[in-house]
Amino acid sequence: MSHVFPRHTKAVLPTAVAGDGCYLIDANGKRYFDGSGGAAVSCLGHSDAEVIAAIQEQVGKLAFAHTGFMTSEPAEALADLLISQAPGDLNRVYFVSGGSEATEAAIKLARQYHLERGDSARRHVIARRQSYHGNTLGALAAGGNAWRRQQFAPLLIDISHIAPCYEYVDRGEGESRYDYGQRVANELEAEILRLGPETVMAFMAEPVVGATSGAVPAVEGYFKRIREICDQYGVLLILDEVMCGMGRTGHLFACEADGVAPDILCIAKGLGAGYQPIGAMLCSRQIYDAIEGGSGFFQHGHTYIGHPVATAAGLAVVRALLDRGLVQRSAEMGETLHAALVARFGQHPHVGDLRGRGLFRGIELVADRESKTPFDPGLGIAGKLKKAAFEAGLICYPMAGTRDGRNGDHILLAPPFILSEDQIDEITDKLEVALDQVLP
Ligand code: PMP
Repeated sequence: MSHVFPRHTKAVLPTAVAGDGCYLIDANGKRYFDGSGGAAVSCLGHSDAEVIAAIQEQVGKLAFAHTGFMTSEPAEALADLLISQAPGDLNRVYFVSGGSEATEAAIKLARQYHLERGDSARRHVIARRQSYHGNTLGALAAGGNAWRRQQFAPLLIDISHIAPCYEYVDRGEGESRYDYGQRVANELEAEILRLGPETVMAFMAEPVVGATSGAVPAVEGYFKRIREICDQYGVLLILDEVMCGMGRTGHLFACEADGVAPDILCIAKGLGAGYQPIGAMLCSRQIYDAIEGGSGFFQHGHTYIGHPVATAAGLAVVRALLDRGLVQRSAEMGETLHAALVARFGQHPHVGDLRGRGLFRGIELVADRESKTPFDPGLGIAGKLKKAAFEAGLICYPMAGTRDGRNGDHILLAPPFILSEDQIDEITDKLEVALDQVLP
């Protein structure tokens, strides 16, 4: 009997024993193509020699030093490298152990920034529906996924949610893409005015929405308008790139494609590429200066922040992404994958939308293409597809609709950036087997 507390207590899972490039191998020797990189984590595949060597070297030299007493070489070097690449005025890096810790820290930093400036009335965060920012209570409150929040609603801080920029589901007939983007962005201004501008501290959003909607980028102009509104009302812009950052969308930072820079940026998954648990929160010089010139102490912290082995892994990962041209490869192979998906499933009666950027791709499934009607959530289409694909040897990330009747089941693909063109065929072949089985 297993003593591990699994996600699904009734599921019987195979035991993963090895990783080989884009594949995971179970105890029976079965190979699975990791088409979702776990959950947009494994950007370098599962057996990157340089990252493994960097971890081994660091753990042999210095495994841990608490950041309350000392900094470490890999943490300093990784922060320098990230800041050398980061957009806008991002200037300091606060390391954490994962995505939820990054978004949680961002919310607290936003609050403390305003306090340091004597703006103590600023306490509201605005976020978006159909978004996910993590599972700890602050992060969960920021997320707008009704299903994930439901059980814990009485425990969550009050965060308001405006519309996402979700063109496939929301854009009106005859409305241009640009006008649509401006319309939904302006919901932020309306909400700031409703709450009282002097009470709003931050707006949080994913540049390309991952775990709730399946790789949904905003339309052109949306984030520029969001940035304008934030600036006008002194509201900090927090971009959550935990899933879509680190080259996943074909840019090292996803917001580069939108032409905006945030005040606070959260990254995780691809930063450690699965080799170590690590996340980070990058903040602007202005925010850092407010703390430094004020109390001089960010009232936050975890035991493992800036962990030497985790930051050594992150450093090796970011170097690999940059030195091996893998961000560009994500952009190019992403186009190839998209073209293959369009060729194979573009006319499928239950495929409503194929979208995404780089190697971050979403397939939205519908009961009816014409009316874009989602499947009845009770049918569990996404879960059945996950199972059928898994049996065929493909790991893909299925998501049930958010059950608010607006977005339906979808599948997320986020393979390692090292995949080959033949492996793109392997993904589409196996996906077709699964789709034929579940939606004949
Ligand atoms: N933000 C986003 C956008 C995410 O996709 C996730 C994880 N799916 C998180 C935050 C939370 O990250 P973690 O699971 O590492 O806590």
